[in-house]
Formats: sequence, structure tokens, C-alpha cells
Amino acid sequence: MTLLPDHLLAGYRQFVEGRYLAETQRYRALARDGQSPETMVIACCDSRAAPETIFGAGAGELFVVRNVANLVPPYHPDGDFHGTSAALEFAVQALRVRHIVVMGHGRCGGIKAALDTEAAPLSPGDFIGKWMSIVEPVARSIAGNELMTSAERQTALERISIRTSIANLRSFPYVAAREAAGDLTLHGAWFDISTAELWAMDAETGDFQRPLVDVDEGASAPDGAEAPGEAVLQSAG
Ligand SMILES: [Zn+2]
Repeated sequence: MTLLPDHLLAGYRQFVEGRYLAETQRYRALARDGQSPETMVIACCDSRAAPETIFGAGAGELFVVRNVANLVPPYHPDGDFHGTSAALEFAVQALRVRHIVVMGHGRCGGIKAALDTEAAPLSPGDFIGKWMSIVEPVARSIAGNELMTSAERQTALERISIRTSIANLRSFPYVAAREAAGDLTLHGAWFDISTAELWAMDAETGDFQRPLVDVDEGASAPDGAEAPGEAVLQSAG
């Protein structure tokens, strides 16, 4: 009997022999003193857009909640099960994070589903449909826009949903209060999987732009990986 799939055990071994060995003291200190991350990231479940990988974060640095399409629901204390709201409450009220980043990404399956108004639910309970209804009004207006290509509609909704989630964050009274007091800053980000481009939202205008990061495009890629420049060319073609 296999307790866990072999590829997971191989990855675990790599972790213990690599990162854990190099950072043992850090892990022990985090265990002893508890976590105090400065940043919460709300990201998609998508396996290609892991925040810890994209931001090069180690243990204890990011408090992450991932859900379908990185959405924040509106504040709705109705006694129901609210996983994302629970994580948010803990991050803000207990950990007192100073930054919350809502990070969307290109080719998001949840966003694609929201734009496909004809699609049948994956199962009768339709959890995805209910969840994506957080952005339903805007999804419907974008889905009906004949002037946009399907790729343009997809990117537009990916970015508008980030702004919607940030607006919903502010519907939580403690988020709004800590932001007003200058103790908390809300950010939007969008990651393009194929080119690794990171776009950040301008808090004033809501526009997305690429932050200036000094990236060495000539850095040698590990065996089997494409250099960043090649990846850009391939995605364009
Ligand atoms: Zn996604």
C-alpha cells in the first residue's frame, strides 16, 4: 500500500535535504515563536500560480488563502460556512498583517467559467456557479461585449474581478478600519503564466501596470527550462 504518491515523497525528500536543511534554524524559530507574516495573499487554486513561488517567499513570510478565481465575497456574517472570510478575519484580527494582495492570473479557469454563461454545472450542487456569482453582473456585461475578442474578455474579467475583490475586502468592518488608520494596505496583482509577467494595480486609478523590477533576462535557465525571452516569443506565436 502506498501512503502517498511517489512524486510527493520525492518532492518531500528534496525539501528536507534542501530547503529545510539550509533553513533549519528558521523553521525551529517559527515553530517556537509562532508566525508573524506581514502579508496576506488571496490567490487562485490554479496549480500554475503559486504565490510562494512567484514571490520567492520562505516559510513564515506569506499568509495565503487560495480559492477558485481568487475572489473575496462580500462581508456576510450569516452563520454559514465562509472559508475565505475566516482566513481574512484571522489574518487581519489575529496576525495583524500590514498588506493584503489579491492576485489574479492569466488563463484562469474560474473566470473562463464565469464568462461561459451557457455551460452546464460540473455537478448538481454547482458550487462553482454559486461562488463565481460574486462577479456575475460584470461577467454578464463583459460576456455580451461583441467588440472584444474572447482573450480580451478573459483578461478584462480577470482584472475587474481583482478590483471587485478589493472592494469586497473593504466591506469587512475591521479591514476598512485598519485601512483608514493607515495600518493596512490593499493591493491588486495579476500574473501571466507563460511569460511570468507580474502586473500590479495602481491604487488610485485601478489600472494595471508592470512594476519596475530589475530582472536579469540573460540569467541561465536550469536544464530543460526556456529562458524568459524565448517564453515570450512562443506565447506570441
Ligand atoms: Zn484561476
